[in-house]
Amino acid sequence: MFKGTNASAGIGIGSVVIVEETKLVIEQRSIANVAAEVDRFKAALDQTMKDTEAMAADLAERMGEKEAEIMQGHMMLLMDPSLTGEIENQIKGESMNAEMAVENVCNMYAEMFASMDNEMFQQRATDMKDIKVRMQKVLLGVESVDVASLPSGTVLVAKDLTPSMTAGINPQKIVGIVTELGGKTSHSAILARAMEIPAVVAVADFLKEAKNGDTVIVDGSEGVVYLSPEDKVLNEYTDKRDKYLKERKELEQYIGKESITKDGVKVEIVANIGKPADVEKVLQYDGEGVGLFRTEFLFMDRDSMPTEDEQYEAYKSVAESLKGKPVIIRTLDIGGDKEIPYMGIAKDENPFLGYRAIRLCLDRKDDIYKPQLRALLRASAYGDIRIMIPMVTCIDEIREAKHLIEEMKMELDRQNIPYNKDIKVGIMVETAAASLMADVFAKEVDFFSIGTNDLTQYTMSCDRGNEQISYLYSTFNPAVLRSIKRIISCANEAGIMVGMCGEAASDPLMIPLLLSFGLNEFSMSASAILQSRKIICNSSKADLKAVEDKAMSFVTAKEVEEYMKEYVKSVQ
Ligand code: PEP
Ligand code: MG
Repeated sequence: MFKGTNASAGIGIGSVVIVEETKLVIEQRSIANVAAEVDRFKAALDQTMKDTEAMAADLAERMGEKEAEIMQGHMMLLMDPSLTGEIENQIKGESMNAEMAVENVCNMYAEMFASMDNEMFQQRATDMKDIKVRMQKVLLGVESVDVASLPSGTVLVAKDLTPSMTAGINPQKIVGIVTELGGKTSHSAILARAMEIPAVVAVADFLKEAKNGDTVIVDGSEGVVYLSPEDKVLNEYTDKRDKYLKERKELEQYIGKESITKDGVKVEIVANIGKPADVEKVLQYDGEGVGLFRTEFLFMDRDSMPTEDEQYEAYKSVAESLKGKPVIIRTLDIGGDKEIPYMGIAKDENPFLGYRAIRLCLDRKDDIYKPQLRALLRASAYGDIRIMIPMVTCIDEIREAKHLIEEMKMELDRQNIPYNKDIKVGIMVETAAASLMADVFAKEVDFFSIGTNDLTQYTMSCDRGNEQISYLYSTFNPAVLRSIKRIISCANEAGIMVGMCGEAASDPLMIPLLLSFGLNEFSMSASAILQSRKIICNSSKADLKAVEDKAMSFVTAKEVEEYMKEYVKSVQ
C-alpha cells in the first residue's frame, strides 16, 4: 500500500497507464539569421497561445469557467511582455536558437516563483514549466501525449500532471489519477475534483514500482493506493467503490427537496464560494443560497486591487444567478493565513491575532472598505445580498461598520444609484470575545454565522494550520461545543437567523448536534450539500435532545466524537 495526499474523493479501480512527457533534448545552437529565428519564436508563441485558448474554451464548455481560468492563467504568462521580450533579447543578443532561449528564460522565472514562500507562486512555477515545454514542442515539432485517447478504465500515473495534460482528460475513461508530486491545492488536484475523478497525489516512489497494465486501486478519500492488490483487497474495494457510487447517485434524489427534519423543522443548506464561477456547482447541487462568499479570493491571484466596479460586477453576477435566494457576502478577510502581496501590509509577528479582517478594513476605509461596501450596496439592487463582517471582537467594530454602510447609502442616494435599503447586516461569530458577547451582539445585527474554523482556533488557543498541535484543534472539544451552543441560543432568543459556515457545518457527526442546538442555516462546499440534506431529512429534532444531552455531558473531544460516531452508526 502506498500513502499520499487525498486530492479528490472517491474510489477508482483500473489499469495503470504511465504518462511520461517525451524528454525533449534542448541543445544550444548558434544562429546565423537572427531575425528569422525571432520570427520562428513568434510563430511558436502564436501557436501555443492558440492551443491554450482552444483548451480554455474546451474546459469552459465541459466543466465551467472556473476550471478554464487555469488555462487563462497560462495565457497571461504567454502574453507577459517581460517574458517574451527576454526570450527575444537572448535570441538576438547571443545569436541563440529559440528553444534554448525559451529554456533559459522560462527556467529562470520558474525558479523565481518556486523560491517564493507562497503556494500560489509555487503553482506559477509549474505553470511556467508547462508553457515552456509546450512552446518547445511546437518549435521542435514534437507531438504532445494525447491523454484524450486513452482507453476506458485507465488510472493515469505520472510524476506530475501538468494542468494542460489534466485538461485533456476524458472523465468517462479515466477512473483515477496517481502522481508522485503535487498537493491538494495544485491545479491538477483542483481539476480532478471538478471532474470528480478520484486522485491521490504526492505518492513517493510510485513510478519505481508501477508498470503499464498493472491493476491499481486509488482511494482518493483516504489518500491510499494499492498496486497489484491481492484478490481479497480488490474485492473489498470493488464493493466499497460500488457502494460509494451508489450513494452519490442516490443523493441526487435530494435535489429539489426541502431541508426539513422528520418532525417539520425547516433549515437552509447553502454554499460557501470564493468566486462567481463557483455558483455553477451551487446550482448543480441545489444550494438554497450562498452562506459565505469569501471575497478575499477576488483580491488574490492578481497584482492590484479589484476596483469598485469590478467588485460590483462580481457580486451582481452571483446575486443574479441565485435569482432572489440569499447571498451572504463577507467583507474582506485578509491577514492571518491569507496574504495579498500588493496591499503593502507589514508581516505580523502573530498573524492570526493581528492586523486582520475588520481590523484592517476599518483602518483602511478609503482605499479598501468604502469601495467594497459601495459595490455590495449597488449589487444589492439585483438580489438578496446580505453583508457579513468577519472576525468581530467588540461592539465598536459592528457600530463603526454599520455607520460606514449608512454613510455609503447616503452617498448612493445623493447619486440616485439604486440599492436595497433594507439590506441585512450580520457578523461572523468566530472569536471567543464575540461568543461571550453573543447576547449583546445579537441585538445589534440581523444575523450570525458561526465560523468554526476560527472559533475552534481562538477557543483552543491553537493555530489552525499547525500540524504539531493539531490534536488540540477539534470542534468536538466541549469548550468549543459549549461556545457554539451558547451562540445559537443567544441568536434564537433574540429572534435572529443563525448559520454556520465553518467546516463543522457539513460534518456528519456534527450535524445532529447543530440541529438540536437550533442552528437555522448550514453553509458548506457545494459538493457536501446533498449528503447533509439527507442527514437532516432523516433526523427528528425532538429525538436529538437526548443525544445532545449525552454528548454535552462528556469532558473530552475524543469522548464526544466517539459517542457521535456510535450514534450516527446506530441510525444508519
Ligand atoms: C471560519 O473561520 O470558520 C470561516 C468560515 O472563515 P475562514 O475559514 O475563511 O476563516
Ligand atoms: Mg474565519
